[in-house]
Amino acid sequence: MPDNLSKSVQYLKSVGPKRAESFAKIGINTVRDLLFYFPTRYLDRSTILNSVKVLQHIREGYEGEVTVIGEVVSSDLIRYGKKQIFKVKMKDNAGFFECVWFQGAKYFKDVFQQKNIFAISSKPVLTKYGHLQFAHPDFDRLAEKESKDFLHTSKIIPFYRVPKELRESNLGDFSLRRIISNAVEMYCDELQESLPQYIISQNNLNNTNDSVRNLHSPANDEALQKAQTRFKYEELFYFECLVAMRKQFIKIQTKPAPFKVDSGLIKKFISSLPFKLTTAQLKVLHEIRQDLESSKPMNRLLQGDVGSGKTIVALISMLIVISNGCQAVLMSPTEILADQHYKRIKNLLGSFGIEVGILIGGQKKNERQKILNEIKNGKIKIIIGTHALIEENVEYNKLGLVIIDEQHRFGVVQRSKLIRKGLQPDVLVMTATPIPRTLTMTLYGDLDVSIIDEMPVNRIPVKTVLRGESRLNDIYNFIRDKAKSGYQTFLVYPLVEESEKLELKAAETHFKEIKELHLPDLKIGLIHGRMSWQQKENIMEEFVHKKYDVLVSTTVIEVGIDIPDANIIVINDAFRFGLSQLHQLRGRVGRSNKQAYCILIAKNELAVKVSQFKLDFAYQSKEIIEKNKSIIRLNAMLKYPSGFDLAEVDMKLRGPGDIFGTKQSGMPELRYANVVEDYDLLLKARNDAFQIIENDKNLSDRNNSIIKKNLQENFSGNIFLSQIA
Ligand code: ADP
Ligand code: MG
Repeated sequence: MPDNLSKSVQYLKSVGPKRAESFAKIGINTVRDLLFYFPTRYLDRSTILNSVKVLQHIREGYEGEVTVIGEVVSSDLIRYGKKQIFKVKMKDNAGFFECVWFQGAKYFKDVFQQKNIFAISSKPVLTKYGHLQFAHPDFDRLAEKESKDFLHTSKIIPFYRVPKELRESNLGDFSLRRIISNAVEMYCDELQESLPQYIISQNNLNNTNDSVRNLHSPANDEALQKAQTRFKYEELFYFECLVAMRKQFIKIQTKPAPFKVDSGLIKKFISSLPFKLTTAQLKVLHEIRQDLESSKPMNRLLQGDVGSGKTIVALISMLIVISNGCQAVLMSPTEILADQHYKRIKNLLGSFGIEVGILIGGQKKNERQKILNEIKNGKIKIIIGTHALIEENVEYNKLGLVIIDEQHRFGVVQRSKLIRKGLQPDVLVMTATPIPRTLTMTLYGDLDVSIIDEMPVNRIPVKTVLRGESRLNDIYNFIRDKAKSGYQTFLVYPLVEESEKLELKAAETHFKEIKELHLPDLKIGLIHGRMSWQQKENIMEEFVHKKYDVLVSTTVIEVGIDIPDANIIVINDAFRFGLSQLHQLRGRVGRSNKQAYCILIAKNELAVKVSQFKLDFAYQSKEIIEKNKSIIRLNAMLKYPSGFDLAEVDMKLRGPGDIFGTKQSGMPELRYANVVEDYDLLLKARNDAFQIIENDKNLSDRNNSIIKKNLQENFSGNIFLSQIA
């Protein structure tokens, strides 16, 4: 007999077959599913203001959101030319206020019926007639009784998202609230615990059914938080179990044979370089060498700020592998970057008689076939390329090492496709998008991490400044002046046009303006995203050979490209770029022993605001961060030279999920927890999970049977679970 929780929601009071169909459309089939459909917001009496209080707030200069509860008095559709505006007059126990919508008037007209009661949340304003007004507010409908109860008790009201699929079968805010509340009352106790008892008591957590109940109708704020903590912990715990298993999974593999290091060859190569390796590069090389000499495949993440010299480390690792008769590949995110790697590596290997090949899209058929043959028969030892490297018809001879450059540009699938073309090859992924230390462990907890935390000695830190647009003429003069002593300049413009045609036109307009109006005496080049890689590559080549003093560019220069004499970068409309993008762009200069400059351009007012802003998160609220994102980004660029510091700032601005999409790491998305805000909890969950997996690899201990069951049920496709199968 199926238990009650697995029954269809259709048997719940006020649901029935038709509504059940609607529920199914949003993924809710069983009673259990419904119990885990949690509120997205709560209404807490202590956060409600009356309309008079709100007016007072406005007068005192408070700018945030507020929530009021009121009853609909009347409503009006007002026509303005072709547009319709919808206005609702409402009252609460202190006075009147109004809500307006400039879009979707018809829809709201149906929602806001006379006498209905709503909780309204948004930023209030005072109209020129002195009315208190909310424009496009969030709103939730309350039943009369609910609103009375609510105002007289300390009850917290849950609000659920009511997607259109539910509205279509006449399910609104209250009916959903009522259905869920009934279901919780009747069936919540039947929920089985999903964490082992010892973990629950160890961490002083609530059990499953209490937590579910409290998420739906918390008695007070404390109960709500405790319930949230429980789900966050649980989510992080299972996440970390997967990480731990992934680590185990890798540990149990062995490669065909460990590599032997030909020290003579490596020494010879290192001394052939035009520079001395940094201590950090040597340290990392040592770590990689140990991996290569081990019988377990390497699985290492190499982090190093832009310009820290990762390529050379990659190349030396490849040398070790090919001196053992194997092949090595280096996969880059763009063709132009692959091409640059190819040329530089060929150049550095000049006297070592090693065949290097390149495989990218857009190669001629014959040329491509020849390379494919030589990869297959093993003539080519080092293969550099883009996605083209993972295509089906590419067969390797003995692929021993896979290196992935700028790994954040590739997903797990692409990565593993390449890896599977070898036989347990060693894997090195490199990234210049620094992952904050706090996060490395959680997202890449199965990878070993090496960090190049030092720049080559001859580097002088890039001077970063911010200038208002009114200073552009001075900047052109500066560029002109510096060009006399051999400095080259990137002039970067953000992409604002959505269509390709317009984008092209915008790039060409900038080019023309600079060439004819601002710097007619200098040699100006143009590079943009609509060129083929071959065209881009030619322009870059010409730039390297000083055919241009200035390169007008859209963001194609963002990743990886290395041009030693380009020492000035001017970033127009800098506020349009994300922080890591800005840092990447800045990394294009300062690669020689001359002082380099990164000049950020912004509207004059913004430039003033940035210069006055104090970047100190400890005293700022989320609201302030939200409002000042572009100011904070620009300010951080001025303050921090290091990509690691910037990444921490970025994470505060955007949240970790956005930056290092967990999807890319091949791990489930987190629904409840935030790895930054809940870091302490994450550490606990991680310790617990790792300890358990280490001591009980197959989860055969009876106390851990719940863990095993849950992993198998919820992550059935995950290959790392094979060990507990
Ligand atoms: P990234 O880490 O951003 O990929 P690259 O590997 O492209 O950086 O290196 C940037 C530049 O620094 C290259 O021109 C490279 O030849 C040079 N370089 C690398 N290591 C050193 C070093 N130890 N000393 C001086 N220059 C170096
Ligand atoms: Mg690089």
